[in-house]
Amino acid sequence: MACASFSMDIVTPEENLDGMPLVKRRRVSNYARSCEATQSGVSSRQCTILKSLWFPDGDIVLEIEQRLLKVHRKRLRCSVIFSDMLHIPQPSETDQVDGCPSVTLVGDAVTDWEVALEWIYSIDDFLRKPTTFDVLSGALRISTKYEIGDLRCWAIQELLLRWPVDVASMRLNALPHAAEAINLAQECNVPEILPSCFYALSVQKFHCSADGGRSHIVLSPNDLRRLIAGREALQDVLLRIVIDPLTEPGCSNNNSRSCGCDPRRIEYWRTRLAPDPKSPWSTWLARELIQMLDDGAFTSSLCSDCLHAHLSTVRWRLGRLRGNIPSFFLL
Ligand SMILES: [Zn+2]
Repeated sequence: MACASFSMDIVTPEENLDGMPLVKRRRVSNYARSCEATQSGVSSRQCTILKSLWFPDGDIVLEIEQRLLKVHRKRLRCSVIFSDMLHIPQPSETDQVDGCPSVTLVGDAVTDWEVALEWIYSIDDFLRKPTTFDVLSGALRISTKYEIGDLRCWAIQELLLRWPVDVASMRLNALPHAAEAINLAQECNVPEILPSCFYALSVQKFHCSADGGRSHIVLSPNDLRRLIAGREALQDVLLRIVIDPLTEPGCSNNNSRSCGCDPRRIEYWRTRLAPDPKSPWSTWLARELIQMLDDGAFTSSLCSDCLHAHLSTVRWRLGRLRGNIPSFFLL
């Protein structure tokens, strides 16, 4: 789970041309705790200090992407991984940078750690800011890898606001970054958002959407296949409704009536679900069905029997769609 490695380096302070402190580190050895991507052997690299996260009274130095951050061990104890790590007695010759032990975090991004450390040090400021996808993904990656439970909970709640478990609750804010969210969900084990992520991509027209149209460079071939399979399945559902709007296999509201409402009901379904060439998304069936439940202008034109049958059919189709979305996308 943890991908942190303690490393033992020889450190020589230097100055670069801009006057920015440079630290030349020659790695002589390291040991890793179940890390898939640690470096080993002798290597030499130059690191620069990240001034915004260099606390003069800090007592541990983190090296991430050749940037050095000096922070406080007590702050890192919110992470199960760091808490365990800091309990392990270190050999006396362990890495020292600016008088502090140093830890090399292999495979992490500095930008992700900037997010996590802002949460750790200034949670009120952090929560007041708008949550961008980059903030969300940085928080989730670090909190998952280093087991920071509260931060991971926050990140998952934020994800669920965009990609809810129930696709019927999905709103416009699900459309941006849906492809990136699929990768993030898989990397950080949040599978519950996947149906909404795929559905959000499937309702976007690739030729006019900056986000959906980039799916092929973001998604794995396997996930692209899921997306295409899901779009095909949704297209089949839509086509079946448009061909025969009042009849659903398995639905108990299929009886035709002699009251004269049927032709208007048929026309209504076909008009509501017709593709709109000007819209940036193709027919968003779940959204249409929910809006149909509240379409008083139409429902007030039906006789009471047909009103009941109509609303039952809408609810039945919505329920089927909710239930089938995961299997449509082969999830
Ligand atoms: Zn009627």
